[in-house]
Amino acid sequence: MAAEKTWDVAVVGAGPAGMFAARTLAGTLSVLVLDEKGRTGGAGAMTDGKLNLSPHIGLDLAELQMTEEEADARIAAVDDVFVAHGADPTVYGEDRERIDAWLDRVSWVRRKTPKGEWDITLRPARQRHMGTDLAHRVVARMTESITSAGASFSLDTRVDGISLGPGGLFALRTAKGELLARYIVAAPGRDGAYWFREAARGLGVNTRYGAIDIGCRVEVASPVYGEITRVLYDPKFLFVTPTHGDRTRTFCTNPGGRVRVEAFNGFRLVNGDALKTRKTANTNFAILNTVSMTEPIQDTTEMGRKVAEFANFWGGGESLVVQRLGDLMQGRRSRGETFHSAALGYDKMTPTLLPGPGVTPGDISFAYPGRIVDNLRETLTLLSRVIPGVAHPSTAIYVPEIKFYDTKYVTDRYLETNVPNLFVAGDGVGKSRGIVGAALNGCLAAEGILRKEGKA
Ligand SMILES: Cc1cc2nc3c(=O)[nH]c(=O)nc-3n(C[C@H](O)[C@H](O)[C@H](O)COP(=O)(O)OP(=O)(O)OC[C@H]3O[C@@H](n4cnc5c(N)ncnc54)[C@H](O)[C@@H]3O)c2cc1C
Repeated sequence: MAAEKTWDVAVVGAGPAGMFAARTLAGTLSVLVLDEKGRTGGAGAMTDGKLNLSPHIGLDLAELQMTEEEADARIAAVDDVFVAHGADPTVYGEDRERIDAWLDRVSWVRRKTPKGEWDITLRPARQRHMGTDLAHRVVARMTESITSAGASFSLDTRVDGISLGPGGLFALRTAKGELLARYIVAAPGRDGAYWFREAARGLGVNTRYGAIDIGCRVEVASPVYGEITRVLYDPKFLFVTPTHGDRTRTFCTNPGGRVRVEAFNGFRLVNGDALKTRKTANTNFAILNTVSMTEPIQDTTEMGRKVAEFANFWGGGESLVVQRLGDLMQGRRSRGETFHSAALGYDKMTPTLLPGPGVTPGDISFAYPGRIVDNLRETLTLLSRVIPGVAHPSTAIYVPEIKFYDTKYVTDRYLETNVPNLFVAGDGVGKSRGIVGAALNGCLAAEGILRKEGKA
């Protein structure tokens, strides 16, 4: 990386947001994509690779100042690119008759809250599944075509600092040297969100705190969830909890999948994925509780870090906590000795992530804030009205599952911040919550740059 070279655009982050930005710009402007990882694809190289093809999932249309029609068209364009690079052509969520049967079922069991809202809502969505095993190939092909179109990648290159250099250029500091760029697309993902927030503030970028999603990963035997996942791969249920009136939702369902440990900024979080070619006997999904804060503390990132830190501490240090639902409902901790007890019904489901180093059987009501535990427990009870088997005592619950996409950036509709020529995109800047949303963001930011250059 030559220090004297000035790029038209430096893209920070080679996740879906950065890759789609580079793809849109390549061949028109000189583009360098920097990523601290030794590979492209971003968070887990599109781990699991569920592509949500609905404008209401993984995107906030109000935040993006976008109509549903525009989002639909942009999502279809992003999806075409994935399919052209080898994503499985099967689309879930198109069987109207069976979806209507599920909507009917929900309408029978839901109730109005005191505020007049439904306590359970099912939001059907079209989805494609690449699978962790096959998503890597799609990412590799995409990287190849972006490179052939003229963009460059500098991997294993962490951007340590950004400053405004001479002539209004941005200077990006890395261990390999400094480079200059006329534009920046910052797409640092959730991993880089905290770093970028500080860097952006140093440049005078306006930010505000948004909500954070804190929840748990639930694992059940696949037959419990199979009837719905055959119709809706990743069913999106929305809930309003009875005690606190808070909002929770199901997220990231992995039929035949695995519960995974995610190393995040020094913490251990839980996540899940599924392979396309090899299935387990279980299905996992997250329940997320959206938390906003007002006074005296608004820093939701810091709050999320503290919750993660304490949950890991409660697991014995750098450890997840796992609890059988039977134990949670009885108000007792889970223990290694009884974790598979047939007498308690726990032999019905063997979790894919077993207690051992880094995963401690325990009590999530000690590890997590009380209100969140109430909401998670009540959400499972609400969900069991629609899918009774989720309330089986063998159901396993893992914490902490936290989605750090809570810092919001004030931008125009092409994601340019108040600092001219500094564009932001993707999960790390609170503009998306998923692969397709992030990719769409990347295209938007790139279009914003092309418009400024008179090349759109
Ligand atoms: C286990 C797992 C499973 C998931 N499953 C799904 C799914 O099925 N469907 C779905 O839609 N979403 C899924 N997601 C979420 C999805 O991965 C993200 O929504 C998406 O990757 C966000 O894209 P992004 O481009 O905004 O950021 P990222 O993909 O996070 O990419 C950001 C990149 O920036 C790099 N970076 C950060 N800071 C710096 C720096 N200072 N210098 C250089 N590089 C930096 C990071 O290394 C990273 O590669 C999953 C996530 C995980 C972890």
